[in-house]
Amino acid sequence: MKTPLAPLALLLPLALMPMQSLAGKCQSQRVKLQMLGVRGPELLDDQASTSYLIWLDDKARLLIDTGPGSLQNFKRSGADFRDIRAILYSHFHVDHSLDFPGYIKASYFTARDRDLVITGPSGNRFMPSAKTWVQREIGDHGSYAYLSDFLDPALPSAYKVHAETLNWSADAPDIEPAWRDADFRVTAVAVHHGPIPALAYRVEVAGCAIVFSGDMNGDFDTLPKLAMGADILVAHNAIPEDAEGVAAFLHMKPSYIGDAAARAGVKKLLLTHLMARTIDRREETARLIHQRYPHPVRFPKDLDVIRP
Ligand SMILES: [Zn+2]
Repeated sequence: MKTPLAPLALLLPLALMPMQSLAGKCQSQRVKLQMLGVRGPELLDDQASTSYLIWLDDKARLLIDTGPGSLQNFKRSGADFRDIRAILYSHFHVDHSLDFPGYIKASYFTARDRDLVITGPSGNRFMPSAKTWVQREIGDHGSYAYLSDFLDPALPSAYKVHAETLNWSADAPDIEPAWRDADFRVTAVAVHHGPIPALAYRVEVAGCAIVFSGDMNGDFDTLPKLAMGADILVAHNAIPEDAEGVAAFLHMKPSYIGDAAARAGVKKLLLTHLMARTIDRREETARLIHQRYPHPVRFPKDLDVIRP
């Protein structure tokens, strides 16, 4: 005899499948996240300032931030700048952006012919928008105006740089599309980094999701939604739990990182952007995070490769 429960029982496993499996299983053998800079703005040790590289099928495809020193690590990684499709900027503080013109000048001596997309947040009275920042770097009135061929459509160059300004707003910030192509889908959300427009990014590729907090203090609480079910969350550990004042206005505490990672259900948590005030307190930081988040916490070094 048929029971009335049978059709429901057949549907149940589908309903319980996590979102990730419906979107496709993470093909982790195709994707690598590599650290090109795991420190903040200080001259602290031999590690470079913030930058990350995403590889797909053994080709370097995306850069996230280009802090000081990271350009040299890009070379050490064996990556080829001709393969890079886009650079995603969290914000334009020096420790996240300084090496940009170095890439553009170095590419002049290569056979790069693929256009390059730059994304970053909109501006305010403290920071230029992504478009304006790129103009001020390599535009015809910029610091490196001699590189303006790469920006000016009227001038001959092997490829062009296209800057895209993404909306940053403190009023009801929501997840917005940032950039996509045939392989990648990138979304971004406004985060609170004091008065500075800053973005967190989610990069989806080959069924995997990698999320970058950038610099933020958690006040908008937009990170957990962006990082929902992510394979990797890279979170910036710039302050200890007892930080106050300006430092806590700009950066998130370990307890917030643990809480956000737990609420998002991320599978791997990497802590970077370490500073003098956090580098010797890694044990305490990991303990505070473990009180909220059950999986291991890693403090990677420059050039480390992490599979999603
Ligand atoms: Zn920073």
